[in-house]
Amino acid sequence: MSRIPTLADLGDVRGKRVLVRTDFNVPMDGGVITDDFRIRAALPTINWLTERGATVVTASHLGRPKGQPNPKYSMDAVRARLAELAPGVELLENLRFDAGEEGNDPAFVAKLTDGIDMYVDDAFGACHRAHASIVGPPTSLPSAMGLLLQKEVEVLLGLRNDPKHPFVAVLGGSKISDKLGVVEALLNTVDALVIGGAMCFTFLSAQGYSIGDSLFEPDQVETCKRLLAQSAASGKTIHLPDDLVGVDAAGNFATFGRSLPDGAKGFDIGPGSAAAFSDVIMDARTVFWNGPMGMFEDPRFEAGTRTVAQAMADTKAFTVVGGGDSAAALAQFRLDDEVNHVSTGGGASLELLELGDLPGLAALRGAPNA
Ligand code: ADP
Ligand code: MG
Repeated sequence: MSRIPTLADLGDVRGKRVLVRTDFNVPMDGGVITDDFRIRAALPTINWLTERGATVVTASHLGRPKGQPNPKYSMDAVRARLAELAPGVELLENLRFDAGEEGNDPAFVAKLTDGIDMYVDDAFGACHRAHASIVGPPTSLPSAMGLLLQKEVEVLLGLRNDPKHPFVAVLGGSKISDKLGVVEALLNTVDALVIGGAMCFTFLSAQGYSIGDSLFEPDQVETCKRLLAQSAASGKTIHLPDDLVGVDAAGNFATFGRSLPDGAKGFDIGPGSAAAFSDVIMDARTVFWNGPMGMFEDPRFEAGTRTVAQAMADTKAFTVVGGGDSAAALAQFRLDDEVNHVSTGGGASLELLELGDLPGLAALRGAPNA
């Protein structure tokens, strides 16, 4: 497996037109950018290139316009902000205005690379998609990963290939079937798994506990049973909550043990579980966290996520957080500066941990300068 070229592997960039695939998929409200973090995050790579005399053309998707131009997803606001932060840097129109982007159409790749000399991928959050702007340009142009992407790859492949032990993965959130693949892959490298959020109910159900009307995926119960057996056989602990918080059948706030009565819904791990999960995090040397422990958007159900976030901030372990909602929870508790790495890609970080590679990285490895 050849290595992934870095910016230095582009050689002399002076006078070259460089297409930089950025992730400018910023949160917007009525045409106004509510958080420009993703634009600012792209500046180190953009500045690296412009300081060395390159002309930078950036390109990104924004939202899901489904292959057609849609003023709601126009890049105008992003372009205006970028002009303030990096004068003279171009930004193409929303890549997903053209069906060729998601369809990886060679004609769209040709359009993107017309007049372009080199390509840089700095959009980690899109690297798990074989879209035109991700996998197309490296087939013909000297290419490299940008500084953001390079950091993501170093951190996440480091976790996968050479973590300091004990290595603990904390998983939660609501996308259960999406994440069970990574649970299985993580069982190979972690010493323990901690499972909260809506994800815990499919596991609790697989263990025979009653879960009331909590969110769960019945067709994943067998998979959870298999994963529980696999972990037991390999001596790895899967920590599940033994107390829960939610609402009873009448919709009133309630606390429960591991079993929920009929009609009840679990929306958070209980205080005992949150304390137990924190202890596991404090004793670890590496922790990867993806997925909130509960419905933290509702203040009644944020305590479990807050306690785990605080343990992530307090532990001496090397701490990595992936997932849009997990990152949002950390930011809500103002703890985002207290962990070692917050990944910009939810799906991409899980897929990289699970498979050890992504379509966008494979494409860069195949570039003519690699
Ligand atoms: P991430 O974006 O970090 O990968 P997910 O998208 O998988 O995480 O899940 C985040 C969502 O999961 C949040 O909106 C949260 O409200 C929800 N969630 C967490 N626990 C529960 C629960 N017990 N019941 C319902 N929803 C939950
Ligand atoms: Mg999410």
